[in-house]
Amino acid sequence: MEVIEALERVAYLHDRKLDPSQKSAAFLKAADVVRELPDGELERRHADGKLEELPGIGKSTAGVISQALDGKVPDRIAELEASSVIPLGEGADLRAALKGDCHLHSTWSDGGASIEGMARAAEALGHEYMVLTDHSPRLTVAHGLTAERLRAQLDEIAALNEKLAPFRILTGIEVDILADGALDQQEDLLGELDVVVASVHSKLSMERKEMTERMVVAVASPHVDILGHCTGRKLRFPDGSVVRKQATFDPELVFAACAQFDTAVEINCRPERQDPPDELLDLALEWGCRVSIDTDAHALGQLEWQNYGCDKAAAHGIEAERIVNTMPADDLVAWAASH
Ligand SMILES: [Zn+2]
Ligand SMILES: [Zn+2]
Repeated sequence: MEVIEALERVAYLHDRKLDPSQKSAAFLKAADVVRELPDGELERRHADGKLEELPGIGKSTAGVISQALDGKVPDRIAELEASSVIPLGEGADLRAALKGDCHLHSTWSDGGASIEGMARAAEALGHEYMVLTDHSPRLTVAHGLTAERLRAQLDEIAALNEKLAPFRILTGIEVDILADGALDQQEDLLGELDVVVASVHSKLSMERKEMTERMVVAVASPHVDILGHCTGRKLRFPDGSVVRKQATFDPELVFAACAQFDTAVEINCRPERQDPPDELLDLALEWGCRVSIDTDAHALGQLEWQNYGCDKAAAHGIEAERIVNTMPADDLVAWAASH
């Protein structure tokens, strides 16, 4: 195994496991350090036991480098491959039917990987496309994109699509639903994007009636295609205890609006979200809503989390026809433009 490949694989697996992002960052940093070294220096330092004198290389990263140079599969990789594997059970058929992922982030907002990196990882998982949905301006903690930066991102996506064809990066956004239900991006720009995910990230403790109105107004927008992580809850992974309580809203009204305006309800696959909760998902299905099974990945390894959502969908009896990301890219874009 090549050294850089080994370091990048460790980072991928830490992210797949939802370890703190500093862990994968340390291995990606080490990969950058190795890339910059003159020929032969890494081998010389390994032979002399001086790897850790390099800035950015510590005990753990040096261990992986040494074992890779010795032609072994590093112990850390062997351990992580097993401990981070994402199980897939009754949702296997649905997972096989998925053609893309409609909610994921890049370093343009708060993700840990480049757009190209995310695209290549998505392709490696068998996807035909991904929708890039970086955050919108008001989410400053996540470096949300201004209109100007989003336009620049569209240019980069166009260039990448020429390079990565036939894989397709569809344009999109995870737009904040503001307190009054308005969307946190310019209307004309939202209209240009292939797919729009809308989510509540602020003022989650709003009173029930106001929160319901807020969500219904957003869901009714002709720009909005998918309602992201509808309750906003966060669990402590893996014990399931609640860290952030779910927003209170009238789910009958919100899902009725989703059905009426043909806005899909997202099954958010993040292990600390698992949103919507089971009873709300059943209600959305009773209303006849479409769903979208999305990872909300902020790192490469997290793109594998769709397994969780597929198992959940299968447990709720959801059929492939109801899941928007079983559509080929052209059909998905046409659907998103049609409502
Ligand atoms: Zn984010
Ligand atoms: Zn979000």
